[in-house]
Parts: sequence; structure tokens; C-alpha cells
Amino acid sequence: MKTASERRELLKAVYQEARVCIECPLHETRTNVVFGSGNADAKLMFIGEAPGANEDLQGLPFVGQAGKLLEKLLGEIGLERGDVFIANTLKCRPPGNRDPYPHELEACQHYLDSQLELIQPTVVCTLGNFATKLLRAEPTGISKIHGQAEVRTLGPRAVRLYPLYHPAAALYTPSTLEMLRADFLRIPEILSMGPPDQPEPSGASPEGLEAPPTLPPELPPAPSLAPPTRQPDGSPAGSEQLGLF
Ligand code: URA
Repeated sequence: MKTASERRELLKAVYQEARVCIECPLHETRTNVVFGSGNADAKLMFIGEAPGANEDLQGLPFVGQAGKLLEKLLGEIGLERGDVFIANTLKCRPPGNRDPYPHELEACQHYLDSQLELIQPTVVCTLGNFATKLLRAEPTGISKIHGQAEVRTLGPRAVRLYPLYHPAAALYTPSTLEMLRADFLRIPEILSMGPPDQPEPSGASPEGLEAPPTLPPELPPAPSLAPPTRQPDGSPAGSEQLGLF
């Protein structure tokens, strides 16, 4: 069993890997990799679709209007961004905010898998269709299953998967906002159920990321492809992400 601080260090290593990723063509058009931010030991994790224009510029997830709504809804259940971890299925912005392509989701999935394995959340809220379909590996749409928590095994761990409408979909549709808010208000109850029973560790590698060829101990420190843009205070966006977990 790894400590929270060991898991956080491994998460930082995954971030260093992701910030120079060239595994799909989205690296050619991105400004910053949007790895995710928040508490690296969070019990509650949110997974959106992909960075938009604001996220791409700042290197942080959910910083636009949808993010403001997400923060508001978090506040209504007594939480703030720093209490949870927020990530996306894709770490780079699709040009023009188009839908993610299957080969992009496939190329990027190992980063999300590592995040889930290292953060070890109890409750995983998928936001909208793309994250929900990806994590459930089923085509059922969000309108059918939003608000229905279920135990799902993701990689080596079981979590309480809780599909929610995407906040962007709720921005201009009051009925969707009402459903999102009602589902959100049930998050504390689902969290209070605690972690679900865990599957038996597989014999081959019970510690999962203990000795991974995919996580080299030393990674290049700085992005050589796309220098991160600056925050208003002059610090690079990349360090802001690191500072948050
Ligand atoms: N929408 C998403 O799905 N993710 C973001 O980070 C921002 C908007």
C-alpha cells in the first residue's frame, strides 16, 4: 500500500510525462496540456470531456463558464475545488471544441487510468456523455443514467461511479440545471457510503504501479514542445497545476 504522499509523487511524474505528450495529433494545436487539478488524495473526482479554449490557455480544467457552475454546485454541498480532483478524458483541446475522436480518447486513456489508480477516489462523477460512455465502456447516454450511482471496477479498483449531466449542458437549459443540481445534492450521501468492496488484487502486480515501465523515475523537467502560458502573476500554468496536487 502506498502512502498519499508516495501516490502524489507518482502523480506528478505522470503529469511530467503528459505535459510533453505527443501521442496524438492534438499536441500540434494545443497551447497547454490540461492534466487536471485538485487534491491528489481526493475521495471525490470529476471527469469532464476535454479542455476548451480557456482551459487550453490556462492549463487548468474547468476554468470557463462551465467551471464556474461546477464550483457553484460544489459550494452548495459544502465543497470547493481544492477538496476534489478535476480531470478530463482528453488532456488537450480538440480544435474548435469539436467532439473527441476515438483514437484521441484511446491514446489519452492511460493518463486517466493512472490518475484514477493513484488518486484512489471513492466516488467518480462523470460529466456528460463522453466521460460516462468511456468509463462505463457502454453506449448508454447520460439522459438515461444520470443520477444513478453504481459500483464499477476501473482498472484495479472499484469505485462508486456517478454519471452527471455536463455543466456546460446545464448553462443554458434550466431543466438540465435542475436535474444536475438534484443529482449533485446526492453526492454527500454517496460519499458517506464509503469505498465499495474491492476486487481481489490480481496475482501478477498487486501493487499496480509499483514497478511500471510506463513511469520512469526521472522525466524531463520542462516541456520542450509548447511552453506553458503565464498566469496573471507571471508563474507558468504548468507549475500552477502541480501546486494544486
Ligand atoms: N468542459 C470540459 O469537459 N472540460 C473542461 O475542462 C472544460 C469544459
